[in-house]
Amino acid sequence: MGLGEFALIDRYFTRPARRAVLGVGDDCALLTSQPGMQLCVSSDMLVEGRHFLSTVAPQRLGHKALAVNLSDLAACGAEPLAFTLALALPGTDDAFLQPFAEGLWALAERHGIDLVGGDTTAGPLNICITVLGQVPAGQALLRSGAAAGDDLWVSGTLGDARAALECFRGTLALDGGAFETLRRAMELPEPRVALGQRLRGVASSAIDVSDGLLGDLGHILRRSGVGARIELDAVPRSALLAALSPDVQRNCLLRGGDDYELLFSAAPGRLDEVRVAARDADVQVSRIGRIEAGDALLVVDGRGQVLHEHARGFDHFAA
Ligand code: ADP
Ligand code: MG
Repeated sequence: MGLGEFALIDRYFTRPARRAVLGVGDDCALLTSQPGMQLCVSSDMLVEGRHFLSTVAPQRLGHKALAVNLSDLAACGAEPLAFTLALALPGTDDAFLQPFAEGLWALAERHGIDLVGGDTTAGPLNICITVLGQVPAGQALLRSGAAAGDDLWVSGTLGDARAALECFRGTLALDGGAFETLRRAMELPEPRVALGQRLRGVASSAIDVSDGLLGDLGHILRRSGVGARIELDAVPRSALLAALSPDVQRNCLLRGGDDYELLFSAAPGRLDEVRVAARDADVQVSRIGRIEAGDALLVVDGRGQVLHEHARGFDHFAA
């Protein structure tokens, strides 16, 4: 590679470690494990054309690569500690690497986490981040704890990222300002790290919405051995999405991906604690339905009419 692999790592991806005992530069990074805590580990790979478009600004790509990983820690209620970065690069272009690194570091700094190592190689652009976090032993939020009668909640709003993708695909036409707002949602997701940590001991199950509400809820239902009923009208959406046709809204809300909001269940008696957690994390949460016995996933309209019926996320009506 033009700049030289080690000069590149040094210039863009090496900063003094704040929490780690040893960061970039040796064969391994060293972190001190805290007594009574469990380590949470998760990886997400971003491949051009599949997870991002070539039109994305490098700074936003740097942000998103880390954000989608932090979102997994958020879903487990973990406190982020550190991350590694495995990077395949077609070249050593400063015009790409400088803003990419800026976007990455800006989000890392907001969460007070160290980049402690990684790997760098020439190849088609591919970004794989592994995040490390911690939770008090036994307190991680899991997909498996939902129980019949629990309320079903989601943070933020859903569907904007999918609407942006439809604009890029040319199936949706919006004016420039609206498009830019939706595009931000797709390219600059905000991982709900603070909310996730505050939901420990409150939520009975949680997942982050990366593949669409129905699909991700299906994971909770299968792991928990339950069904659910969603009220479509209660699923939170932006004013922009709410102005689109009902069909587009429904598709973006239920099947959109890339939302990176938290979907979680909590016993009805926990309602006040959920509200406090959301207020303290400064994130809006909405009750969108409830967990039910059985294995059906129903989506109902305002009159209780069933719009969709799935078996634990398996969509009988998918085209
Ligand atoms: P090794 O050959 O021992 O696997 P490398 O020569 O690949 O190590 O990397 C040298 C050091 O730079 C290591 O500490 C590694 O973790 C770190 N590193 C490599 N690529 C990256 C990257 N993209 N971001 C952060 N650290 C990196
Ligand atoms: Mg080595």
